[in-house]
Amino acid sequence: MVKAAQLRHDLAQQHVRLIAVSKYADDDAVEALIQTGQRDFAESRPQQLRDRAVRWPQCQWHMIGPVQKNKAKYIGRHAHTWHSLYDLTTALAVARHVQGRVLPVLIQVNISGEPQKQGLDPTQLVDFYTHACAIKPLHIVGLMGMAAHEGDASKAFQRLRQCRDSLPQTLSELSMGMSGDWPQAVEEGATMVRLGRILF
Ligand SMILES: *Cc1c(COP(=O)(O)O)cnc(C)c1O
Repeated sequence: MVKAAQLRHDLAQQHVRLIAVSKYADDDAVEALIQTGQRDFAESRPQQLRDRAVRWPQCQWHMIGPVQKNKAKYIGRHAHTWHSLYDLTTALAVARHVQGRVLPVLIQVNISGEPQKQGLDPTQLVDFYTHACAIKPLHIVGLMGMAAHEGDASKAFQRLRQCRDSLPQTLSELSMGMSGDWPQAVEEGATMVRLGRILF
């Protein structure tokens, strides 16, 4: 366990936002972290995101897992930012439920080289990005990626940064780094790190 407030402060000095991944945390643990001043949280299940966004509206709820079409409404209505876009059908389904606002979105890219991992193949990114930009209430603000458990995390994060630099517009956000590899992600230019285990 690390001290969340200290880590949040240290990261902020480097212009990195700490996102607390609360997918396995119970409500009391979430409440305790809110008491330390934490406001950014991430969930991997749409219903849990909805429930917690309703319960703690003072916080910003980020979506980081796969979204089934029938759960798209929870993301469109309740997610502050959606980090896990990698198919256009789901994008359209979510977009339909965004009302009176723009939903910031990150495209998830498979940078680990493991075929079973979620996310877009890097070779498809430019084409996908062009299509995703046309889906109006969504606003593509960056890329999200995960390094493999084994292997060189820095290299994977460099790959995500190169993916971002290959796009025709300059996107500001790079969501990368988890409990086991966040220092490398910060080193490679992360603007958001998603930490679960070391916070809860
Ligand atoms: C679970 C999860 C995290 C947090 O992982 P920890 O190892 O607990 O820090 C970050 N990002 C995604 C996409 C996750 O699913």
